[in-house]
Amino acid sequence: MTVSPVEVRGAVSSHELVKIYGNGPAAVRALDGVSVRFRAAQFTAIMGPSGSGKSTLLHCLAGLDKADAGTVHIGQAELTSLDDTRLTRLRRDRVGFVFQSFNLLPTLTAEENILLALRLAGRKVDRAWFATIVDMLGLRDRLRHKPGELSGGQQQRVACARALVGKPDVVFADEPSGNLDSRTGADVLEFLRTSVHDLEQTVVMVTHDPVAASYAGRVVLLADGRVAGEIHQPTPESVLGVLARLGA
Ligand code: ADP
Repeated sequence: MTVSPVEVRGAVSSHELVKIYGNGPAAVRALDGVSVRFRAAQFTAIMGPSGSGKSTLLHCLAGLDKADAGTVHIGQAELTSLDDTRLTRLRRDRVGFVFQSFNLLPTLTAEENILLALRLAGRKVDRAWFATIVDMLGLRDRLRHKPGELSGGQQQRVACARALVGKPDVVFADEPSGNLDSRTGADVLEFLRTSVHDLEQTVVMVTHDPVAASYAGRVVLLADGRVAGEIHQPTPESVLGVLARLGA
């Protein structure tokens, strides 16, 4: 099989991923053989009932947690074969994160937060790319503000800029609109969608919200630690219908 360069750059995949918490009779197979592929320049939502393994999968795909068996690829790097130093470097250089709780450093300005990881890595800032993202997010006149001087929606937009400024292979978003009201949440989801369509970024998002999932081009469904299906071009209604069948 030949793989195009774009796919190699951005694709994330897992093969037969297994994650077990605890041992003996109390052991929980949070992931029970998950094989899934996320293409470059696609926006995918991971959904499923509570306890189906969504967070565990995101953490294993992002190298924040170690699986017990199986493999994870980000581009051509195989995560489970990397030592901790290389894994930390890969996360820093090639992965962007957007968390529900923003996770900005309170003593730094918005601009310093956005650029921190690049500065720590000694990487050069692509000022044109920085300006493109900041303008798309409407943050130009907020760059000197500290997080405490920004609304929740503005803080999450700073977190989005931070995730994208290093042109990562993939952005992992964990309930990115979970702490926001529906209008500011929609702004953040719309930005993620635009970053995929216009900037060819790759976004993988965990959410329990069918409306949030409908911003994605594809929904991957989990149930009991396994892939239970997928929906292309999801709508809130189609997602709700499938989740109801899965017992969410
Ligand atoms: P979801 O994100 O879909 O709600 P999780 O990935 O959080 O699901 O959890 C999947 C399963 O693994 C659940 O049964 C959960 O109770 C269990 N689990 C998750 N994290 C831990 C942990 N740190 N210790 C023990 N069990 C855990």
